[in-house]
Amino acid sequence: MPSRSVSPLSSVEMLRRLIAFPTVSRDSNLELIRFVRGILEPYGSEIRLTHDEAKRKANLFATLGPRGEPGIVLSGHTDVVPVEGQAWDTDPFAMAEKDGRLYGRGACDMKGFIACVLALIPEIMGRGLKTPLHLAFSYDEEVGCIGVGRLIADLRQAGIRPRSCIVGEPTEMRPVIAHKGKKSYRCTVRGLAGHSAYAPLGVNAVEYAAEAVAFLKQMARRHRDRGPYDRGFDIAHTTVHTGVIRGGSALNVIPHECAFDFEFRHLPGDDPDRLLSEFRDFVGTGLVRDRRLAVPACRHPDGGVRTGLDRAGAQAERVRDARSAHSLRGVPAPPRRSSLRKGVILITHHASCIANVRRKASCPFVVIVTTRERRARRIQPRST
Ligand SMILES: [Zn+2]
Repeated sequence: MPSRSVSPLSSVEMLRRLIAFPTVSRDSNLELIRFVRGILEPYGSEIRLTHDEAKRKANLFATLGPRGEPGIVLSGHTDVVPVEGQAWDTDPFAMAEKDGRLYGRGACDMKGFIACVLALIPEIMGRGLKTPLHLAFSYDEEVGCIGVGRLIADLRQAGIRPRSCIVGEPTEMRPVIAHKGKKSYRCTVRGLAGHSAYAPLGVNAVEYAAEAVAFLKQMARRHRDRGPYDRGFDIAHTTVHTGVIRGGSALNVIPHECAFDFEFRHLPGDDPDRLLSEFRDFVGTGLVRDRRLAVPACRHPDGGVRTGLDRAGAQAERVRDARSAHSLRGVPAPPRRSSLRKGVILITHHASCIANVRRKASCPFVVIVTTRERRARRIQPRST
């Protein structure tokens, strides 16, 4: 067993060394991993590395002490957030000490924890471990906890099932024993465009999206009023929230598309998939009254995970195919031939629309009101 002198670095000195590796999430962390490995290997630790696809980053999972029984994990991430555009007084990757505080990128979140763990390894090993101690240091936490997924998959495959895990994220020295889960989605509603004067003939995607958002709000209120509750959380119930909505192009155009992003932040016991199916049921039955409406998918706005609502989408595709592509460009779809035979008033300022109607129509007359010029013209159909 190596003596204390193998790693004589104090936690402060260890932190200085760790901060000097500029492990911003977009960059490699391999130098830091090599450094950590060098500290742990003399103690006979078993080390597993899992890399990203480009082999530029790695998670490190080390086991110290006895093997073959469930151990305790000390876990931290090695990556840090960028420093560009921030007013640093000192080099962010050279630790500075001022008024009893240590400054540097990642000093707090969360190389400080990793430094303390590594500095204590000689003492921990000197006392003798009765239970395995695991160290799990991941990459790409700051950009969505991407790295640790591979680490966990590797442990599962290797049959390593630790007993518990302490994550050293900064919480001002207060233990945080649980965290809400989060699932986020993008819902895209597709309608049928047209001039707003023809509102009943189109399908207003913004209005249907608003109904869907209102349904989510109902779900949010139900959780607020009826729980379940866990008083350990600042907000004691599952929350449902819509944060972004985009749709429509002009007041006089029936909006063809509207997309909104929403999320569930759920209590540990609440099932987010059940919440999503409740929303899907509403969309599939309550919302899709108009067969020309398409709510094709709820996607994860970041990851592109498709979660369905495809049945409604398929219905609407058929409707869209049956209509002129015209209707998707923000002008009214030409009315059906049968109605043109009786004559029709068409409000448009698109020359192509007029030509299209004239070509297709064998009606006695078409009156065209141009919305720009605000005057009516009477156009004779071609003789057939
Ligand atoms: Zn962190």
